[in-house]
Amino acid sequence: MKYVSTRGKSPAVGLGSALAAGLAPDGGLYMPAGRPATGPAEFADLESLPQIARRMLQPYFDGDPLADSLADICAEALDLPLPLRSSGDEHTWLLELFHGPTAAFKDFAARFLAAAMRRLPDAAATRRTVLVATSGDTGAAVAAAFHQRPGFDVVILYPDGKVSPRQAHQLGCFGDNVTTLRVAGSFDDCQNMVKAALSDPALSATLGLTSANSISLGRLLPQMSYYAAASLRHWRASGKKLGFVVPTGNLGNALACLMARNAGLPIGEIILANNANCVLSDYFAGQDYALRSVLPTLANAMDVGAPSNFERLRWLYPKQSRLRKTLAAGWVSDSEIKATIRTWNSRHGQVLCPHTATAACLLERRRLSGDDADYALVATAHPAKFESIVQPLVSAPVGMPPALARLLQRPASAQPFQADKELFKDWLLERAGAERSQA
Ligand SMILES: *Cc1c(COP(=O)(O)O)cnc(C)c1O
Repeated sequence: MKYVSTRGKSPAVGLGSALAAGLAPDGGLYMPAGRPATGPAEFADLESLPQIARRMLQPYFDGDPLADSLADICAEALDLPLPLRSSGDEHTWLLELFHGPTAAFKDFAARFLAAAMRRLPDAAATRRTVLVATSGDTGAAVAAAFHQRPGFDVVILYPDGKVSPRQAHQLGCFGDNVTTLRVAGSFDDCQNMVKAALSDPALSATLGLTSANSISLGRLLPQMSYYAAASLRHWRASGKKLGFVVPTGNLGNALACLMARNAGLPIGEIILANNANCVLSDYFAGQDYALRSVLPTLANAMDVGAPSNFERLRWLYPKQSRLRKTLAAGWVSDSEIKATIRTWNSRHGQVLCPHTATAACLLERRRLSGDDADYALVATAHPAKFESIVQPLVSAPVGMPPALARLLQRPASAQPFQADKELFKDWLLERAGAERSQA
């Protein structure tokens, strides 16, 4: 499999190079050049997520030196619980993606990326700096995946004051090879700083820069596998396709779902759930695609005004009329998020995080308009990460997963930083110089 840039002005590369580069040299995002087809029959005896992922991803690794390591990568990174929990309502499930070390779905992809990158042919000889702009959860997942891994440094940028207190603690609690910057700006500012550094070829080459953002191909690929596993489980049990309602910010998670459906998995309708940052929902409602400034909401990991993976979606569907028929979308206000957390808890006895609540609210609207197909709400984070929002809305205390509790017991610190691309590049250079003179 070769990987091509969405902007079409860079040469096609192999998987390893696409993973290591993060962004294509022309500023575009890497996409697989081929469209492998893998229907349910090809997964016949496969049950576990690592097994299913290995089968699903085989064509994407084909021809690359990493192909020999695919089984090991899947076993190491994806051996996490993946409950498809009944909601109590006959046609609705929760796909819980929050059982990894940092209690959000980003753990799957971050762990996969780390497992793949440390097996790149040049890994022993190359020191890499992983840059990650985060709206809350990516940074911690990436830090957890690369923490104390020889040959890797991680630099996290997050918008100061715009993540939950527990998220901020998680982002700053790793230390060692992880440096955390709290940026006086928005998530889009952080993302632009990372993009500016990555698209400076000299800087990027000198420092071995790479990205672990949702622009990274290494995140997109593994995310396809849990949609494969969940839809196959449902297909085997019921003979029906499973639709997904996906809480959406940068569109990485939902795009992986679409790619799994395009590859032939038994996936029904895919519905994007936005918060008040509704650029995608407006687009699918027929408006022009227009970037917005970011509104802070209760579902902060989805506070994105310029969803970076939209470029990939457009590349897949150059014709706007077809693209608009491919996915459905809607958006949910903060007051609806709160109301949904409350009513879902009293009706189903389950506590949703604010992100998952956007999906639940949207599905409720679909049900009222007569849609009785089978759907899974994609539960993207554990509610305990957002207890200051969730706890007052539900009756019983929100239990904390042990892995999250362990992280919150560590001391945390983050360095203040201005939202300035040039300052960031200078800082990276100085830091590398200081490391070199120490060595
Ligand atoms: C990152 C994140 C999202 C948004 O996912 P995208 O892939 O950026 O669309 C939704 N919910 C939670 C909890 C997240 O951390």
